[in-house]
Amino acid sequence: MNIHEYQAKELLAKFGAPIAAGHAAFTVEEAVEAAGKLPGPLYVVKAQIHAGGRGKGKFKELGPDAKGGVRLARTVEEVRAHAADMLGNTLVTVQTGPAGKQVNRLYVTDGADIAKEFYLALLVDRATGRVAFVVSTEGGMDIEEVAHSTPEKIHTFAVDPATGFMPHHGRSVAAALKLSGDQAKQAAKVAASLYKAFLATDASQIEINPLAVTEQGNLLVLDAKVGFDSNSLFRHPDILELRDETEEDPAELEASKYDLAYIKLDGDIGCMVNGAGLAMATMDIIKLNGMFPANFLDVGGGANKEKVTAAFKIILQDPAVKGILVNIFGGIMRCDIIAEGIVAAAKEVNLSVPLVVRLEGTNVQQGKDILAASGLPIVSADDLGDAAKKIVAQVKAVA
Ligand code: GDP
Ligand code: MG
Repeated sequence: MNIHEYQAKELLAKFGAPIAAGHAAFTVEEAVEAAGKLPGPLYVVKAQIHAGGRGKGKFKELGPDAKGGVRLARTVEEVRAHAADMLGNTLVTVQTGPAGKQVNRLYVTDGADIAKEFYLALLVDRATGRVAFVVSTEGGMDIEEVAHSTPEKIHTFAVDPATGFMPHHGRSVAAALKLSGDQAKQAAKVAASLYKAFLATDASQIEINPLAVTEQGNLLVLDAKVGFDSNSLFRHPDILELRDETEEDPAELEASKYDLAYIKLDGDIGCMVNGAGLAMATMDIIKLNGMFPANFLDVGGGANKEKVTAAFKIILQDPAVKGILVNIFGGIMRCDIIAEGIVAAAKEVNLSVPLVVRLEGTNVQQGKDILAASGLPIVSADDLGDAAKKIVAQVKAVA
């Protein structure tokens, strides 16, 4: 789960990270009010969407010469103008995809005079299974380009969980940023606070880009992207409250209500499978047969009729779906119960695309009989290879 920049900054501030004053705003008036509470004379008005690249982003509704989603203002009236320009409009950045994201919240912060922009991130390094720091002197809006063309400018090191964050980790961060004296101390302190925040909140990612050095010589967290391990949210009700459902894919949101693991993909064949491994194998074999899966969907081990119906509806909400492949292995789950669920769901949602069902396992024959007797145009398959071939053939025949 991701949160907005202003939420991330408020959270990190609690752990001691240096953050400029700022306030969230949902309306132009609130933005003006927020600016009024700040000292000035420089303000920053920032679009709050769950995507980076806002500074270089473009608003769909405004001309190509209009400014992006991070704007400096020198008067409260300028803050008003920027807020009016951004709220309700669609910001397109390298991370939003071409559809962009509607800006419904702003963050009005105290503007800093920046001398230098660094990059500092914490993430889970899967190779070592440890929390790792990623540090670069070349922060700011072109970090992707730095990673691509001068990867040697990006330093990475992992923290041993047995020791936790040690003073030498802080010194490593400072050294990677080529800092000395008081600024080195500040960098070590920032790194320690971020590590503490990472562990305490079960974060999956904390990215500070830029970590700025101000003209006054102070380090300041200027942008913060924080994501959390969804599996740990049950023990962080305060973090769960920060969830902004309008930022999430509506189908994925619906699926999460039924405890279905659904991820939207770009292909044409909707998949309903039990078990993540089987779901991935199903996606692979669809590709092997020349088409692409429209989604990943694991209905889980205890799929009942209600879940199967919800899963069908979610798959069919996607206008790209031209056919559905159901691949269920009845282990704990009995195939006849699954078949009943499929038939009921297919009737309820008025199924309009080809449906191939592969059932295997407990009570498989009873399951197949139920499908055959349903009167619905359900194509039964014997194994996974057969099922993939059949759904691809069915979809191509209709097209
Ligand atoms: P992103 O484009 O979504 O990553 O948004 P950021 O919050 O990183 O802002 C983009 C850029 O705006 C930063 O890299 C800075 O150069 C600039 N910026 C952000 N805050 C300030 C500020 O307080 N003062 C100044 N001068 N520039 C800022
Ligand atoms: Mg940034």
